[in-house]
Amino acid sequence: MAPSMDRLGYWGKPTSTLDWCEENYVVSFYIAEFWNTVSNLIMILPPIYGALQTLSNGLELRYICSFLGLAAVGIGSWCFHMTLKYEMQLLDELPMIYSCCVFVYCLYECFKQENTINFIPICLLLVFSISVSLVYLHWKEPIFHQVMYGALVACLVIRSIFIVTWVYPWLRPLCYTSLGIFLLGFVLWNIDNLLCNSLRASRQTLPPVVGAVTQFHAWWHILTGLGSYLHILFSLQIRSTYLKHRPKVKFLCGVWPTLHMESPKTG
Ligand SMILES: [Zn+2]
Repeated sequence: MAPSMDRLGYWGKPTSTLDWCEENYVVSFYIAEFWNTVSNLIMILPPIYGALQTLSNGLELRYICSFLGLAAVGIGSWCFHMTLKYEMQLLDELPMIYSCCVFVYCLYECFKQENTINFIPICLLLVFSISVSLVYLHWKEPIFHQVMYGALVACLVIRSIFIVTWVYPWLRPLCYTSLGIFLLGFVLWNIDNLLCNSLRASRQTLPPVVGAVTQFHAWWHILTGLGSYLHILFSLQIRSTYLKHRPKVKFLCGVWPTLHMESPKTG
């Protein structure tokens, strides 16, 4: 995976334990991996909007944390791909674990009374987050992080499928759209890692704009950003349906899905 013909730029020699397939400092002197950096905008702006809307709907803090957690991953990922510095890599990877823990809490506690806090899963998830962080700070093995993240995603997939099979079958389209988009992102993430040499060679012959479309790690950001955003909407729709807030998915400008409450909860 380690690039051989990379240029150096503003941030100096990469110190991260991972360096992705996109050639360094090709588009900009100030951004190591340009497309892998700007593609994080989808993981930053929509969740911030989602958090503000959740706040104005008077919904629970855990969903505001979910949206802000996703935005934090996007900001960390932006910093990581822009600099390729080890500290920035942690700013990307550790929030992935923490935000996923918030998603797990939301999805496993969605059929409880409103505004109740269950300390047992919170403690378990905290112990998990702290353990993963401590181990990863000492054992700088990216595969360890990937497996731990994968385990959390698996918990979400199992719980999501359980809910749409046994509780709210009418939420299947949103659930499977979110899962499908995320899975497609994961496929492209693997293609980017496994076929890096061929992708780089093909970019030599393609016009720059067409070449940019073959930056599959950037597509991973776009698709997992969208998939995670839809997952939060899905989780929020389950919760607000259970609490009888009558949620409805609406499309902003006819494209971007957002959730509206027909009977907003105030106070
Ligand atoms: Zn990335």
